[in-house]
Amino acid sequence: MSATFRFTLNATDGRARAGVISTPRGDIRTPAFMPVGTAATVKAMLPESVRATGADILLGNTYHLMLRPGAERIARLGGLHRFMNWDRPILTDSGGFQVMSLAELRKLTEEGVSFRSHIDGSRHMLSPETSMEIQRLLGSDIVMCFDECPALPADEARVAESMRLSMRWAARSREAFGDRPGHALFGIQQGGVTEELRGESAEALKAIGFDGYAIGGLAVGEGQEAMFGVLDYAPDMLPEDKPRYLMGVGKPDDIVGAVGRGVDMMDCVLPSRSGRTGQAFTRRGVVNIKNARHADDPRPLDEDCACPACRGYSRAYLHHVFRAGEIISSMLLTWHNLRYYQDLMDGMRTAIAAGDFARFEADFHAGRAGGDIDPI
Ligand SMILES: [Zn+2]
Repeated sequence: MSATFRFTLNATDGRARAGVISTPRGDIRTPAFMPVGTAATVKAMLPESVRATGADILLGNTYHLMLRPGAERIARLGGLHRFMNWDRPILTDSGGFQVMSLAELRKLTEEGVSFRSHIDGSRHMLSPETSMEIQRLLGSDIVMCFDECPALPADEARVAESMRLSMRWAARSREAFGDRPGHALFGIQQGGVTEELRGESAEALKAIGFDGYAIGGLAVGEGQEAMFGVLDYAPDMLPEDKPRYLMGVGKPDDIVGAVGRGVDMMDCVLPSRSGRTGQAFTRRGVVNIKNARHADDPRPLDEDCACPACRGYSRAYLHHVFRAGEIISSMLLTWHNLRYYQDLMDGMRTAIAAGDFARFEADFHAGRAGGDIDPI
């Protein structure tokens, strides 16, 4: 615990980094994976269960929460932590990405984005100033700058124009955020897959000055090879003494590759969403529990996993409850997937501290290449 927001880098191994972000609501061990709690809940999980998987921090979505139940209502009810019964750190996105992907009748101007709610058609406006105000009302510990990014592939002129707008919005976000001890504001680097634009964006953000820096505009359709291509240079453009957050990533191999390239924080709906569709992530790759091969299988999903799904239940049971549409199927598979992701992060933190990241990475890929256990 710390009265202020502080990042301590404890070890590096190649470009991989391990450290701790200290906040008044608790420490965040890095590299960190943040489960996504879109509508003030990580679907199918109690907050104490999320904590039991090893998560130090959750992500909340500004766009969803401002529309339902509303930021003012959450503030009246004591803020997002109290509302959802999670007393550890929360990072909120700015709403910028989701308003462009979910809202209706969007109008993008220098001022911000006006739009209609996808829920009830009501009219709203998101700007750097309103996004900062909403994230303040939610009580977010790590606030993200309001930004805009095009889906990839996009032509370079469009990416450049969008990045420069986001940098003007970053300055307005910084101004509107003000001075809030114990709370952090992160800038977001844009620039698509163009190194020069990424560099220009990083310089603009550093001139403004932030508590942390995100790499935005990736995992939006460019593919892993292009994403790793950007991560080969983008993290090093950002200050070494501040956390680096890769937004919306990703699959387990994306995460390992990103950490190996100097990323400290990530978030993704994949482990929780996949849990609800019958997909489990294991040390041996992805297991589709709906497949008939599991129907008579008394073995656990992953014998090396200590989660409740693997300790107490067989593949046959998990297969049955998924096929039967039972709620416990989502609960158990989500728990397992979140635990798998947190074990992965823990393994990387330990390996980086030991100077052993390359071997960890090789073992990770070898385990997946070996594939699932043979059918009964
Ligand atoms: Zn498990």
